[in-house]
Amino acid sequence: MTAQALLRTLPPIMMQSVRRTYSLDVAAPLLRTQGYINGRWTSAASLFPVLDPATGQEIAQVSDCGPGEAKRAVDAAYEAFQSWKQFTAKERSVLLRKWYELMTQHKEDLAKLITFESGKPLAEALGEIGYSASFLEWFSEEARRVYGDVVPSPFKDRKMLLLKQPVGVAAVITPWNFPSAMITRKVAAALAAGCTVVIKPAEDTPLSALALAELAEQAGIPAGVVNVVPCSRENTPAVGQVLCTDPLVGKISFTGSTATGKVLLKMAADTVKKASMELGGHAPFIVFDSADLDLAVKGAMASKFRNSGQTCVCSNRFLVQSGVHDQFLQKVGEAMDRELRIGHGIEPTTTQGPLINPRAAEKVAHQISDAVSLGAKVLRGGSRLDGSYVEPTLLADVNTSMLCTREETFGPVMPVIRFDTEAEAVAIANASNVGLAGYFFSQDVSQIWRVAEALEVGMVGVNEGLLSCPEGAFGGYKQSGLGREGSKYGIEEYLEVKYMCFGGLVP
Ligand code: ADP
Repeated sequence: MTAQALLRTLPPIMMQSVRRTYSLDVAAPLLRTQGYINGRWTSAASLFPVLDPATGQEIAQVSDCGPGEAKRAVDAAYEAFQSWKQFTAKERSVLLRKWYELMTQHKEDLAKLITFESGKPLAEALGEIGYSASFLEWFSEEARRVYGDVVPSPFKDRKMLLLKQPVGVAAVITPWNFPSAMITRKVAAALAAGCTVVIKPAEDTPLSALALAELAEQAGIPAGVVNVVPCSRENTPAVGQVLCTDPLVGKISFTGSTATGKVLLKMAADTVKKASMELGGHAPFIVFDSADLDLAVKGAMASKFRNSGQTCVCSNRFLVQSGVHDQFLQKVGEAMDRELRIGHGIEPTTTQGPLINPRAAEKVAHQISDAVSLGAKVLRGGSRLDGSYVEPTLLADVNTSMLCTREETFGPVMPVIRFDTEAEAVAIANASNVGLAGYFFSQDVSQIWRVAEALEVGMVGVNEGLLSCPEGAFGGYKQSGLGREGSKYGIEEYLEVKYMCFGGLVP
């Protein structure tokens, strides 16, 4: 069936009617609006607004920290590091575990904050809290397994050891798409290793970060170990400058766009800070003729439409082999009609919230119109709606000249490219300067090994559209970043190896 014929047969995706107004109660539990420095809630000279992306309405005014507050936070973290590193691993582990338990206890309130500040549907926000808390649990366990080495010495009068020690103060700069989990994925590893942190949350989503600080305090984590400096977009460069250049900061850990990551790396170069960078992706999602098509459709829906397509591991380009191409389009279109409902995230039936802000919606709409102008067919959606909403969109007849196949979309657009051979699919998949996640569906065992090894990505989903969990190693190849988060490797990012040569021994 041609794309045009499919278009005529399929119903439009429904938008839920807006039934009521939505507001975050000013007395909402865990709503904190000041910075958190050295164990104190701290006001700044001015405030900045936090908006509900679904309505554009203000939900809170938050202290707009500047370079002064950032410097105070770094000094406090440095001071606290001197004692935190002396805690035993077990003592740190117990505190992280307590923090995990408090998060679990308050999951509903934490999820509501995420939904109101990021637009994410409540069920997904609850999922994020589970995922976020799981890093506190995981690293509370990993804290106790930071082993060094005893090295066989080539000299009879010397013993050789490799010790692991914490790097020091870690500056943690996080994005808005996972306002809670991107913090714990870094901070849990840092604290487990014996580092202290200064967190700069995204300007769109500071409330989740501040709520986490409140729970850290309740868990008994000492003053200065966790600091949060929320700030506006205007103050961000000055705060970033302090965090990336202050000699007392030993490490920067960033999740966000590749462009911003490069800016931070350049700033950090002068003081040669350690750096972990989790940057942009452009994930291919390949469906081979041998695939279990229902499984592939399920994977595509999960990987594309979670958080309205605003995750760095979202599938960005769908490559479908000729033999199953039309059938895949048919089935995925039907799944979109069945499963996707646009609306405010607090409505229980919503699966597609707004994008983070109108700028993001504009960028996605531009990619759609670019594709259409170059010959793509719109099989579902295709329109920008009011405010920050974009319809979930299915595009057929896509080719690699279109913007959506060359740039990260960060929105609910599924562009489908038809291909004939495995080599062709792998070449298209790898023709990118980033390589975070990649997915493919195949039932051919030899093909699975060939393609899994050939894809230039840090994470590969084989017959699976969702990869993230604390046990897995999260990170990318090429310009998708440096280092890994989660897994047994995540804690290494916050550790130095000290070689100790113990000489003068009488054999
Ligand atoms: P986006 O444009 O989608 O918000 P970014 O990568 O710019 O993506 O943002 C991710 C995080 O990086 C946010 O917390 C943002 O405030 C922060 N950020 C952006 N520019 C800077 C900077 N110059 N210094 C420090 N942090 C920055």
